Amino acid sequence: MRCPLCSGPVREADGRLACEVGHEVAEDDLRESTDARLAEALWMAIEALDSEAQVLGLLGRGSDNRFADDAASQAAMLPDFARRHAGHIDA
Ligand SMILES: [Zn+2]
Repeated sequence: MRCPLCSGPVREADGRLACEVGHEVAEDDLRESTDARLAEALWMAIEALDSEAQVLGLLGRGSDNRFADDAASQAAMLPDFARRHAGHIDA
């Protein structure tokens, strides 16, 4: 769990959530920021896989493009995963 204000680790102590700096974190804010971080990470992965598929496709023109096809199919699976695990994502 990361603090929405400073990205520091959040811990639960004495019935409250707070980061090491002392920012007290509301449960709704923690959930919202965690969803946003997950969405950002997933879209970064999707973009990286798309780029890899394009590069492998360029480099492997005229030969077996199995690796490019693998990267493209993995990139195609991630938006579904993103929609299921971070409900506010539009793809
Ligand atoms: Zn903090």
